[in-house]
Amino acid sequence: MLPGVRDLRALLAPVCPVAASAEALLAVAGDKSGLTGRPSLVARPRTTAEVAAVIAAANEYGFVIVPRGAGTGRCGGAVAERGGVVLDLMGLDAILEIDRREAIVRAQHGVLLGALQSEVEAVGLWFPPDPASAADCAVGGAVATSAGGLRGAKYGTMKHYVLGLEVVLPTGAVVRTGARTRKCVTGYDLTSLMVGSEGTLGVVTEATLRLLPRPDCAGTLAAWFDDEDALARGVAAALDVPCVPGALEFVDRRALAAVAAHREDFEPRGAAGLVLVECDGAAAAVAHELATFRAALEGAGAAHVERATSAADRDRLWAARRGISPAVSARWPHRLSEDVCVPRTQFVRMIGDLHGIAAGHGLTALGFGHAGDGNVHASILMERGDAEERARAEAAVGDVFRRALELGGTLSAEHGIAITKRAYLPLELAAANRAAQLAIKHALDPRGVLNPGKIFP
Ligand SMILES: Cc1cc2nc3c(=O)[nH]c(=O)nc-3n(C[C@H](O)[C@H](O)[C@H](O)COP(=O)(O)OP(=O)(O)OC[C@H]3O[C@@H](n4cnc5c(N)ncnc54)[C@H](O)[C@@H]3O)c2cc1C
Repeated sequence: MLPGVRDLRALLAPVCPVAASAEALLAVAGDKSGLTGRPSLVARPRTTAEVAAVIAAANEYGFVIVPRGAGTGRCGGAVAERGGVVLDLMGLDAILEIDRREAIVRAQHGVLLGALQSEVEAVGLWFPPDPASAADCAVGGAVATSAGGLRGAKYGTMKHYVLGLEVVLPTGAVVRTGARTRKCVTGYDLTSLMVGSEGTLGVVTEATLRLLPRPDCAGTLAAWFDDEDALARGVAAALDVPCVPGALEFVDRRALAAVAAHREDFEPRGAAGLVLVECDGAAAAVAHELATFRAALEGAGAAHVERATSAADRDRLWAARRGISPAVSARWPHRLSEDVCVPRTQFVRMIGDLHGIAAGHGLTALGFGHAGDGNVHASILMERGDAEERARAEAAVGDVFRRALELGGTLSAEHGIAITKRAYLPLELAAANRAAQLAIKHALDPRGVLNPGKIFP
């Protein structure tokens, strides 16, 4: 028989700090998917040994563990839908080492990504992966979802920066994967297997991440559009420019209006949408690249193209971009938000089709995203969020996924699958592929204790 709450507390309290008050459980019940679970207990380890002890107990007594970072995930990965113990890892929060000459940082799970970025920048280094949630999400959560963000087109995502990990396997064994070196092909690549595994294959307690030198200079261009056709031409023209920008972002009419309503420091200069371009590198190269983008965007019919003239101006534009998600959530608390990715050449088409799909279900949609890497943040908007409207929105989401796949894309660029997208997994992964992935899961987690039910329908 599975242990009850009292037994769980008695089992775990000697090996790890735990809490079971209504307040403590509420704090870890949900994430930013809007889903909530019913955890029986929260364990708050402060060391890898405590993590290992909790997982070993789960194997011995047969209870479920849900690893949790900062709870900013959008797909329900940290939600204890089957009850069990939430493993709140935010107490492992030290930056253990910054090695300037090797350009490496070693950090525990619970360091906030934004804090890590600031610490390494203070010594002249740079950590490029930059999810809009960087200030709030944990290094371990970003590793477990292979988070991306604004700089993906040029600099890639978390998976391109993880050199090695300390991981507690689902059996409770502690292993170190990878190496401190830039290259490593010793044995199977367990590091890559863990990155993006959404807490189903192991608990990341520490990550060794590679760093880059901070670019000498960065400049931002904002291109405002007054009509949608010109906006589409603008995105296509920017994608055709033969240089890789540090960021190339797209914001549509509704997203722009939501941010303008939400932030006093943001005043749109065009109603139909915005294309934001950032170039970085040596000052002369940045000036040349921005001039090339300006010509392309003006040629496509942008109403205003302006280069941010000061660091404050630039920060204000990027803060507004980071603020889209909260602004849209404030305006449309009932929305289904997905992060499909299509080949870059299909980005404009996907955005257009998104609106057509929503209209076909009697709904409206909103789109913004990382045009530079084809990643569309697609929201199907609901006004009431009642069961009837939600059923239509869910049907629209299914069509969005099918369309992204028809265009050669994928279900998720960076948020993961977890609960919200698992029903759609068979649309993209064939049965043999799913079976191979589940075989890995069963080999590493024979008792099914770690985040069971996530990713696979
Ligand atoms: C406003 C907003 C903007 C966002 N913008 C972006 C963006 O631009 N790009 C992007 O990629 N994402 C974005 N996200 C999504 C989210 O922030 C990222 O997925 C983030 O990396 C999750 O980190 P977390 O610490 O909050 O993880 P959680 O939400 O706590 O957990 C996420 C998943 O990782 C697992 N997990 C967490 N920690 C560990 C660990 N140590 N070991 C094993 N598994 C673990 C959990 O079980 C769960 O499955 C955004 C979210 C919000 C709310």
